[in-house]
Amino acid sequence: MTDVIHQLARIVQTVALAEQPIDQVNLVVESISTGMAVDVCSLYLANSRGEMLLLASRGLAANAVRSVKIPPGKGLVGLVATSRHPVNLADAESHPAFYYIAETEEERFHGFCGVPLVHTGKVIGVLVVQGRDVRQFSEEEQGFLVTLAAHLALLLANSPLASDELGQQEGRITGIRGAPGIGIGYCRLCDHGELYAVANAPCPDATGALRDWHDLLVVVRREIEQEQQTIAGELADSVAGIFSAYTMLLADPAFLGHVEKGIIAGNWLPGALRQAIQHFAELFRAMDDPYLKARHEDIHHIGNKLYNAWRGIRAETVPPDRPVILVGAQVSVSEIAAVPAGMLAGIVCLEGSSLSHTAVLANALGIPAIMGTGSIRNLANDCLMIVDGNSAQVMLNPGAALLTEYRKLEDDQRFLMQQLEQIRELPAVTTDGADITLYTNTGLLADISPGLRNGAQGVGLYRTEIPFMIRNSFPSEEEQVAVYSQVLSAYHGKPVHMRTLDIGGDKQLPYFPVENEENPALGWRGIRFTLDNSQLLMTQVRAMIRAAQGLDNLRILLPMVSSTGELDDFRELLGDAVGQLLAEGYAVRRPALGVMIEVPAAISQIPFWANKIDFISIGSNDLSQYLLALDRNNPRVAARYDHVHPAVLLEIGRILQLAAEHQIPVSLCGEMASDPVAVVLLLGLGLRTLSMSATKIPRIKWLIRSLSIKTAERLSQDARACRYPADIRARVEAALAAAGLQDLFSGHTTGAGNPVKLRPA
Ligand code: PEP
Ligand code: MG
Repeated sequence: MTDVIHQLARIVQTVALAEQPIDQVNLVVESISTGMAVDVCSLYLANSRGEMLLLASRGLAANAVRSVKIPPGKGLVGLVATSRHPVNLADAESHPAFYYIAETEEERFHGFCGVPLVHTGKVIGVLVVQGRDVRQFSEEEQGFLVTLAAHLALLLANSPLASDELGQQEGRITGIRGAPGIGIGYCRLCDHGELYAVANAPCPDATGALRDWHDLLVVVRREIEQEQQTIAGELADSVAGIFSAYTMLLADPAFLGHVEKGIIAGNWLPGALRQAIQHFAELFRAMDDPYLKARHEDIHHIGNKLYNAWRGIRAETVPPDRPVILVGAQVSVSEIAAVPAGMLAGIVCLEGSSLSHTAVLANALGIPAIMGTGSIRNLANDCLMIVDGNSAQVMLNPGAALLTEYRKLEDDQRFLMQQLEQIRELPAVTTDGADITLYTNTGLLADISPGLRNGAQGVGLYRTEIPFMIRNSFPSEEEQVAVYSQVLSAYHGKPVHMRTLDIGGDKQLPYFPVENEENPALGWRGIRFTLDNSQLLMTQVRAMIRAAQGLDNLRILLPMVSSTGELDDFRELLGDAVGQLLAEGYAVRRPALGVMIEVPAAISQIPFWANKIDFISIGSNDLSQYLLALDRNNPRVAARYDHVHPAVLLEIGRILQLAAEHQIPVSLCGEMASDPVAVVLLLGLGLRTLSMSATKIPRIKWLIRSLSIKTAERLSQDARACRYPADIRARVEAALAAAGLQDLFSGHTTGAGNPVKLRPA
């Protein structure tokens, strides 16, 4: 049996790699029945009505597969599902729960062993083996099935299979969130030609092919320049700089040489191009770092672009006369650039992740996007689609009722945006006169103008990681000065809280990965990393101070501080940086200094830091993660995460109290600042400064302008009596709905990832 276990462990891995979901399940049943030498192996999967659909079987009648559905709780399969326990019988037919389904022709089998597939506490399916003999399966066989079912549950829950096989019947496909929002439009397929499908072929005229290759490069470079100009009108340089990934590859001697060598060796141009593109894409795909891994898509894109230019086909340039949803294995930046502003309703990538450049760009443009859906059946140009970027769902050919519902949501969003537009210039003041300061969180230069447009009173958190991440090496002092001064001068007269580099944990630099840590969240990250690499920190701090020359609006923010020693070390470095710059003749001043309160240990240290810092900023994302010991990016536990947890609220109350006692200005810059329920509670606890992404400011301002501090205080007082985050949410939501604020929340997602449902009162 040990051999079989190893063999099947290998099968589980192989299955995970199978391209089509249905191939996955067929492989599962095939390999189990061969590995265990059983007469039947079947996999049932639960649908949304709780019925068990016979999804795949080796041994039962073929026409039963994908047609037989067992009603909830019925038969032995139902018994396994409801009891969540293996059912192992020598003779299935003699069991009182036996439920005969003629199509399966299972009367030929007697021995039965069924085990449940459980994911996040729910039974998602049942795995069954059956034998002709009247024989109970051994303990070892049963244990083996239980182990295998645990693996399969993980695999099937995270694969698009459930939606592909069950959901797609209802036209719903679930992917990965790329960018939020709702879009309704007509499918425009982006795959014009697929370089990877090109075969090798002899090249009779190598000289001519090399000439064609060089001409092709000129054409495509020009095309990219034009697209860049089109898109640069809408985006600032750093996002449009995504194009530089393309341009760099087109100028890379190793890549160009690879293609030329292929042609000289006798391959025709498209074949040599495919070989080179595949070679370089594979180098990236094999990397561990998720950001670098995602770059293989850029290489694939540019390969297709070159191939299509060679074939004389360009990205679809006919301007659409109705909203379009771009759909492709990958959707390139060029394809996005080719759709005029206002006509792009959504983006769906069958491959890719939230780290893809497509997702980054969609966020910057405010276009809903869904990534990694896997293949979608019945996809065709011009079919009607709904893209719900909030729940990462695509709906194909939606029925009238669904369409009406989503059109309403879309209208609500549009109406709300118009309403919000009207309060853009008005202050964030509560109905009883409390002034609330609203800052923006940024990191991309593209975010600068939306912040200002939405009335941000400054930058509450400038994440400096992003300029470091979208490069191939550490940026120099001059390069950093150039980036920081753009932000500081755009917010001239308003404070900009620039955080020193916060890498490690979930944020990695492609060219300096912090690897091999058993527990990265508790490892070399934030201030710990930068103090140990003080040459990088010194360069960064010097660049920040130089960039603020004559502007005087820089405030330096330190991430992940957990001890006074770290603060002392930084203060010394800051003094040195200012001293150096003054000696070099720069007219600079020592900037204000603050710390993020995101490590729980920092809370009790606030009194000791009062005379060392000028402000604090609560990093509620990390603070909640460390207080609850929950990683919300881990799908296995994400549903348990909610920052409106009584323990988190209690600690935030303590921070605010300590800050008030020591007269330290305090703000909050994590996700809580844009969650309406959390904002009410935070105002009630005494917080008066919030920082959030630019697009969230108008809604939060509307909330603040419709609320009194008195109500907020009452609600946060009520929350103290609650033991469950869900109760806290329910109370605040009910109060807001009663105040007529339900429209504010349509499409909003809570910290826990659940849509806030506040229908009209
Ligand atoms: C936080 O932890 O709340 C925070 C704002 O920092 P980041 O999300 O960048 O870790
Ligand atoms: Mg943080």
